[in-house]
Amino acid sequence: MAHSFSALRCRICNEEINSILDFNHVPIVDPYASVYKEELISLVGAPVHLGCWANHALWPEVARLAVADTRDAYKSGQVLKNNGEYTGAWLRFPKGSPIGVGTMVLPRSAYIYNDMFAENVKGGYIAGSAEDITQIAKFLESLPLEDCKEIYITTFESEDSGPTTIKLDCNEDRALLSLSGESDRLRANIYLGDARLFLGRN
Ligand SMILES: [Zn+2]
Repeated sequence: MAHSFSALRCRICNEEINSILDFNHVPIVDPYASVYKEELISLVGAPVHLGCWANHALWPEVARLAVADTRDAYKSGQVLKNNGEYTGAWLRFPKGSPIGVGTMVLPRSAYIYNDMFAENVKGGYIAGSAEDITQIAKFLESLPLEDCKEIYITTFESEDSGPTTIKLDCNEDRALLSLSGESDRLRANIYLGDARLFLGRN
């Protein structure tokens, strides 16, 4: 789908953002919860180049706040994975709901979705069904992410949505993750340093 990025400039370097593959938003956290609030106020939610954000000095601070928020939102649920204070995955099974939900905090990665007119991105979080998040974690675990140069594919039989393919298409320091079954249901641009951090391999 076409996207007009002409009006978007990176808040960090002030250059234009020309591709969905280099587009991220600084994760939404509460700047007032941080001692760096003055700097964070202008950054939180801002459009940025994926690479600029990955190299910014404050990503660990934002990651720490994102993990604390997610842990709090999932306090009635369970921890799927948590390596240190900057990343992790949590699951929750709401009463009365047929499927569980999950969130993975990957602080320098971008969740890609279609809004009304075009593709957009949400920074720092991947959300999906508990089953999808569990399968993504298992898939990442099985990959040699230290030297990721190829396309990796796996399939699983989803309890909720039938046969599902997970694909990771590596491109230097990042990789496009997609989940598809009868329809496309999740896409994210994973910063590979986040995946290694998530697995405790950094
Ligand atoms: Zn930039």
